[in-house]
Amino acid sequence: MVCRCGAPGAGGSCRPISQFVLKVHSRCDLSCDHCYVYQHADQTWRGRPVRMPPATVRAAARRIAEHAREHEVPDVHVVLHGGEPLLLGAAGLREVLAELRAAITPWTRLDLRMQTNGVLLDEELCQLLVDYDVRVGVSFDGDRAANDRHRVFAHGGSSHDQVRRALALLRRPAYRSSYAGILCTVDVRNDPDRVYEALLAESPPRVDLLLPHATWDHPPERPGPGSTPYADWLGRIHRRWVDDGRPGSIRLFEALMPGGGGTEAFGLAPADVLVVEADGTWEQVDSLKTAYHGAAGTGFDVFDHSVDEAARHPGVAIRQDGVQGLCATCRACPVVDRCGGGLYAHRWRTGSGFDNPSVYCADLLRLIDTVDAYPAPGHVAPSLWSAASPVDDLLDDLATGHGSPQTVRRLADDQLAITRMLLAACRELSDSAAAWEVLADLELKAPEAVRAVLEHPFVRPWLVHRLDPSARSGARAAADPLPALAVAAAVRVGVPVTVDVPVRADAITVPTLGSLLLPGLGERAEVTVLPGGFRVRGGSADRTVLLDTVEPSAGWRQVRDVPTPAGRMSIEDGDPYRDCYGQPVASRLDTPAAQALGRTLAEAWQIVRRDVPAHAAALDGGLRAVVPLAPDPARPLRSATARHAFGAVAVTPHSDPETMAVLLVHEWQHAKLGAVLDRYDLVAPGHSTRITVPWRPDPRPPEGVLQGVYAHLAVTQVWRARAATDGGEASAHAARYLAWTRDGADALLASRSLTAAGERFVGQLRHALEETRVGSR
Ligand code: SF4
Ligand code: SF4
Repeated sequence: MVCRCGAPGAGGSCRPISQFVLKVHSRCDLSCDHCYVYQHADQTWRGRPVRMPPATVRAAARRIAEHAREHEVPDVHVVLHGGEPLLLGAAGLREVLAELRAAITPWTRLDLRMQTNGVLLDEELCQLLVDYDVRVGVSFDGDRAANDRHRVFAHGGSSHDQVRRALALLRRPAYRSSYAGILCTVDVRNDPDRVYEALLAESPPRVDLLLPHATWDHPPERPGPGSTPYADWLGRIHRRWVDDGRPGSIRLFEALMPGGGGTEAFGLAPADVLVVEADGTWEQVDSLKTAYHGAAGTGFDVFDHSVDEAARHPGVAIRQDGVQGLCATCRACPVVDRCGGGLYAHRWRTGSGFDNPSVYCADLLRLIDTVDAYPAPGHVAPSLWSAASPVDDLLDDLATGHGSPQTVRRLADDQLAITRMLLAACRELSDSAAAWEVLADLELKAPEAVRAVLEHPFVRPWLVHRLDPSARSGARAAADPLPALAVAAAVRVGVPVTVDVPVRADAITVPTLGSLLLPGLGERAEVTVLPGGFRVRGGSADRTVLLDTVEPSAGWRQVRDVPTPAGRMSIEDGDPYRDCYGQPVASRLDTPAAQALGRTLAEAWQIVRRDVPAHAAALDGGLRAVVPLAPDPARPLRSATARHAFGAVAVTPHSDPETMAVLLVHEWQHAKLGAVLDRYDLVAPGHSTRITVPWRPDPRPPEGVLQGVYAHLAVTQVWRARAATDGGEASAHAARYLAWTRDGADALLASRSLTAAGERFVGQLRHALEETRVGSR
């Protein structure tokens, strides 16, 4: 855009400036060794105020507004920058944002942005950013190893978890409008696949990949024998991105495409940025700080000089001259329209100044070749980056330690989908067309009844057993499950159907309802559904079972329910496929024992609600059955979870509800995480790593450690809550589980055995632990 005022300016005409960077805080809480502000040639930050004074903010805002008004600039972009702008705190930031909005918005559309390291971002700041419509870019270099190579605190500690926490906050629906994207600085020593996956995992609306600042005086590191390591590294990510259907915006690749439009780092678009330093001086683009001390200076300031005056500085003017402002080599280059000589700062060489190609020239040439040789296909994948990723949201919610009831329902839906797939596979082995027809018909007429049956925790173990080739015949053979499932669903609806049901050991099992033991039935029984029950005929036997009667039918072992705050839960001591816990399950309890266990479980559930309400809500969302384990005097306190039996946990029938509450919370963690692991890889496949953990003598595989950490996090939260009122022993338990969880999580993260999603999950879980440490429930 050339201004219609015709006043003399850069390149002979006045080009309005539309982008302004405000250095509102000149210090930082991180100490990144690749930082051009503090670690490169320019050291002018040392003489500047720590924070931009209010009078300077006011003067800058008025200069920008004046410029927008005089030149009728339709859109003005202002980026709050530093150092670290969040060091202003909420109150200081509010003042700056209010000043900018009040001064500029009467004259133009104001696009407010912020570039932050994210470390200090919290909910209050997020809300403030939403209130002032500020879009935030977060600096983040990828997976833990990549990020911590440079982005560390002054004491050397990692910033990875804090930054991911900030990104998780920005992904929340309430704050997502303020999530602009991620700025990632390339280091070719990092694994490009892991970096790509780590960035993808954060669902950024846009990714900026930046070449590390370098000049001909201080060339970039080029480890390894290749002459174009940056092009090779970026080429790898480009290939992944294209193969994945371009899941979101990567600005660098888009800018380099033919007609891509360029960025500050590429292309021939005229320079359109000015910087206001914390002391009010106008400066040229920040990246010039890498060239030499004072390189970005203009000699002007917001108090005495307008934007136009600063924009007429020769350093700005030369970057508005298009190809004429480039060196002879670049002017003759076949890709000059797309490369534009690279970033201005990267051309610096003592002696010839900026009249050189980029120090990345060879890489840029090759990268443009790569982009051309491997063009993006026509289609663009549904944007994993620009929209909320359901997977990320689910994992983030569970990483709080408990997960909401909605998240647990999603896990249950996932498990149901797996069960349905297994059921379809079992149909191939079934000779009961009638059973399938009943199920299909009820799926249309009463889907909630079919769902209730298929969600029974021991349906999936039955289906899995049925599909196991080694269990197709002989004593271990599993009966065809379809007829019994059809009966169970039909009884729930009261549909009068008749189905042949296989008999095993003189018994038929009707999942969710009970088992009928009836000697003389033979191998198959004809089951007819009646109002309020069903009739069974086979061999020499004939029995009608009426449900919910005071006097149960002879041989009928009805599933017994326990009232819970969420409704009802079963004591499952009859289903033959409950035998999936790797330890002996109890046979059917007598009535007093079942009633006692029921009372203990109901009290335990209330205790969970008292201690950790969020965990109680997660139990409400999915725990449907408890299986009593067989007593073992040597190990009186045991509990277990089975991967195929979501919705159930197994416990020894302990009589103390306080103890039972801990067992329920502990095992429900395993159940939830097992459901997650059914669908998502949190542990990299093929790892033979074994990790030493404090809670067991034998080194454990990564998935086992992950399970332990997740369960111990919840137990820590229970004991922490109890310690708040009981102190003493509860405090000691809390401290022990806290240490176990923390050490286990740290060992997992250090093992490099997790996927990017797994790292994110454990990193956030680690934060939940810190909140637990300071007493949050
Ligand atoms: S967070 Fe940014 S400003 Fe702070 S030290 Fe790192 S690179 Fe520099
Ligand atoms: S830096 Fe190299 S690739 Fe870019 S325009 Fe100049 S000569 Fe061409």
